[in-house]
Amino acid sequence: MLSRMSVQDGSTLVKLRKQVRKRCAGGYKRYNGLLGLLKRRRHEEEYEGEAVEVVTKAPMEYLEHSDSFCDGGTLVCSSRSSTYGSTLTLLEDECAETSDVKLEVVEEVDVKVVVREFHQAQANELGRERHLHYYQLPFPWRENRFIIHGYRFYDSHYKSLLSIVNWYGWHNETANIWTHLGGALYVLWLAVYDFPRTSVWESEQVPMVAKCIVYVFLAAALKCMLASVFGHTFNGTCCLALRSKFACVDYSGITMLITASILTTEFVTMYNYPWSLRFYLAVSTVLGIFGVIMNWSPKFDRPEARPLRIKFFILLAAMGGLSFMQLGLLGGWKYASWLMAPVTHKSLVWYLLGVAFYGSFVPERFRTDIVVDKRIPTEQELSTSLEVVTRHKHVHFRPEPTAGARTDLWSLWWVDYVGCSHSWWHLFVVLGVVGHYHAIIDMFANRWGI
Ligand SMILES: [Zn+2]
Repeated sequence: MLSRMSVQDGSTLVKLRKQVRKRCAGGYKRYNGLLGLLKRRRHEEEYEGEAVEVVTKAPMEYLEHSDSFCDGGTLVCSSRSSTYGSTLTLLEDECAETSDVKLEVVEEVDVKVVVREFHQAQANELGRERHLHYYQLPFPWRENRFIIHGYRFYDSHYKSLLSIVNWYGWHNETANIWTHLGGALYVLWLAVYDFPRTSVWESEQVPMVAKCIVYVFLAAALKCMLASVFGHTFNGTCCLALRSKFACVDYSGITMLITASILTTEFVTMYNYPWSLRFYLAVSTVLGIFGVIMNWSPKFDRPEARPLRIKFFILLAAMGGLSFMQLGLLGGWKYASWLMAPVTHKSLVWYLLGVAFYGSFVPERFRTDIVVDKRIPTEQELSTSLEVVTRHKHVHFRPEPTAGARTDLWSLWWVDYVGCSHSWWHLFVVLGVVGHYHAIIDMFANRWGI
């Protein structure tokens, strides 16, 4: 836990004590304790206590130290550091000598908040002028340590919107936006032009409900692509809370797409078994709805909830697998495999390939134009240690990325702008969607013998 104090023009230290007592009863104790502690510990080398953060509007350049930082008028130093005592001594002296300065407990904050907000003010300022590199981003914005250049940090959604057409220069989401924008247009074309001309649509043997389910799938695919375009366009914002919301929009789209893919598969395999069909459709739909809610819940957004998220997708996929097994047992394995073959050949293979790129950071992990950090601070370190923004500030917030050995085409410098793993993931999702659409058409044609 840190204490945040501020020095402002206005009154003397004595006056301040009274004001603090009056204004913030909660902070008063801490403030008094802090001063007492300062007096006692000023010259002691070791202090095993709480860290102290000091916010100051007075000129405090002299407080810069290797294990402290000044960030937009905020000074943070660890109580374990020698700066701790001297910093507060200087503050006290300043308050005592200058009658127009007051010292005030503003609020209590924790290490996690300080680390999370570190460098935000500078990033805001830089973001108005240009795109940032990885080491200029505050920690919560850092998601892929292999992507170095071209980060947007815009202060308006209008700028994000214009970034679809690279109004402020090519950035590292351009390819991600356009892969799914192209995908969305293609899905729209499938829905309005291609499907009404297929033999499945024209055949009277295929029930109307089956035709409708193709549209349910195409609608989910379109929603997935548009949600992704929306998410990747507006995540260029400098507002962290909104940025996480845009990520939720993106995840929800993918969850709905997967649910719709499973539903269509279950529909074909279980069509002859109405009660089983209802059961599978109902359970998968409920799971899908649960998945979307889960995406929006901050409780499930945390890294600790990752195993639960993975279990959820396995369960959803298992429903599709289960319907296949039931068909195998009831209708024969040969028939079941023959009916399901288009799904494995045309859609599953693309989805899996996409996931492989998504999870492996290929190809950007092989870039050699920049020396990429071997490891990044863990969630645990980011929420418990100030060292990432003090002692190791020069590593995590270096002015320029460290240049690597090569700069030619094979150094993969271009992954920041085109062809990163996420763009490949997008491309394979599009191929998976188109493949699944054709797989449904094939399965329906096989199922109803047209
Ligand atoms: Zn994406």
